[in-house]
Amino acid sequence: MTISIPPKALEALAARDFKMLIDGRWLEAGAAPIERVAPSHGVVVSRFQAGTKADAERAIAAARRAFDTGPWPRMTAAQRSTILLKAADLIAARAEEIVALDVIEAGKPISQVRGEIAGAVDIWRYAAALARDLHGESYNTLGDGTLGVVLREAIGVVSIITPWNFPFLIVSQKLPFAIAAGCTTVVKPSELSSGSTVILGEILQEAGVPDGVVNIVTGTGAEVGAVLTAHPDIDMVSFTGSTGVGKLTMTNAATTLKKVSLELGGKNPQIVFPDADLDAFVDAAVFGAYFNAGECCNAGSRLILHKSIAEEMVARIARLSAEVKVGDPLDPTTQVGAIITPQHFEKIAGYVNAASQAGAQLAHGGGALDLGRGQFMAPTILSGVTRDMAVAREEVFGPVLSVLTFETVEEAISIANAVDYGLSAGVWSRDFDTCLTIGRRIRAGTIWMNTFMDGASELPFGGMKQSGLGRELGRHAVEDYTETKTLNMHIGARTSWWMPQTERLA
Ligand code: NAD
Repeated sequence: MTISIPPKALEALAARDFKMLIDGRWLEAGAAPIERVAPSHGVVVSRFQAGTKADAERAIAAARRAFDTGPWPRMTAAQRSTILLKAADLIAARAEEIVALDVIEAGKPISQVRGEIAGAVDIWRYAAALARDLHGESYNTLGDGTLGVVLREAIGVVSIITPWNFPFLIVSQKLPFAIAAGCTTVVKPSELSSGSTVILGEILQEAGVPDGVVNIVTGTGAEVGAVLTAHPDIDMVSFTGSTGVGKLTMTNAATTLKKVSLELGGKNPQIVFPDADLDAFVDAAVFGAYFNAGECCNAGSRLILHKSIAEEMVARIARLSAEVKVGDPLDPTTQVGAIITPQHFEKIAGYVNAASQAGAQLAHGGGALDLGRGQFMAPTILSGVTRDMAVAREEVFGPVLSVLTFETVEEAISIANAVDYGLSAGVWSRDFDTCLTIGRRIRAGTIWMNTFMDGASELPFGGMKQSGLGRELGRHAVEDYTETKTLNMHIGARTSWWMPQTERLA
């Protein structure tokens, strides 16, 4: 197959220039822009400003001013909620433009991205609803002389750093909740896929978000990201990305004891018992492994199959893998798009080669697909993987499925937990006891039972172990961007501390 570019798509591929949003003004950085080559089509599609340390500092100063003296934290929650709802409507109105950018900059299939943007609109609406329910607590139970009130206050200036794999969806899992709480922000998208986040800046201005509340600084992690994780005027860092950079973020944030929220990598297992609905599982195995070309923190990259069904399952998953449509992400029938960069392609291929050399068998795929342009990888299945192999322990972040086997429930749990990550897991069985036993014993933030990679704005998401710190979404999502303050109030005459007891009694 050769990727042809239909005339309508050419419009989307014409290179577009993006600016940065700092204190309500659209600015250019002094340096030459960062050119983004579409991973699917091999042509420059976007030029982002290469923000500098000074740009990041200017944006932080603007966010600080907007928080300390601006109107946003002082508005009523109802006013903020109205603006968030308007933003949701504007995102929906510009959805196809946002979709086109995420598709072409990140090589993601268009039908999938349409779903992501619809999901993002829902999250903005959910955050708008939560904004109005943010409240503290009161204690009228501390005796006649005391009333305790616990305020929830916006935490302050939040830096938001996002990865390339779900550009618009991930910023939408953070930003609406931060600003719903009354925080002000500096956002840094990935230098590989910044376009849709910059468009979000335009949308938020139009929705009525005041200047300085949302600043968007594009650029690299080393230049802009480093400032956003260490600057003393930042109160909280909300980071999604690799575990390595997550650890660096936490180290930088420690210098001024910032709060950190980290959404990091995963090595997520699907444990399958012979009594499961195996037709449903085979479909979910293929979906879990190849969705977003496996470049997904939630990828179901490890299958832990009961020995009695392993051979049959591998054969069936291999047959279905051959049906998966890899190709032009602009084609609505495409299910798997391109690999983000040539360097990342090499990294994935390296894992597959190392596993083969260590004794794993290639049950399907294994290499590049030549589509004439860009970099594409065949859906790949490695069977006979053992838990000591790198491909069984490390995040490959490509369309590569590792198959391991088990005989007892204890063994399945032990294999599932034998990695540093703990983001999500799946268990497949018609037996209620089996599902719940496994569900309670796996150390992961989300456990799917007889399904995989479902989600909803209402359900908290995040990782255990080295998959992260904190949760996003769910009803506490706005609270994550707040701190509590205790008001301890005295009613009536206060008992003196220094006056001798006898005098007091006299
Ligand atoms: P990455 O860690 O390389 O980059 C993430 C962001 O951090 C980018 O904006 C990057 O520019 C920035 N960055 C890089 N170096 C930095 C530094 N020194 N200081 C501050 N910021 C810096 O990750 P990636 O390759 O963009 O994304 C893939 C990773 O993200 C995978 O590990 C994946 O599992 C993870 N991820 C996790 C979730 C989740 O919710 N748990 C979701 C999506 C992606």
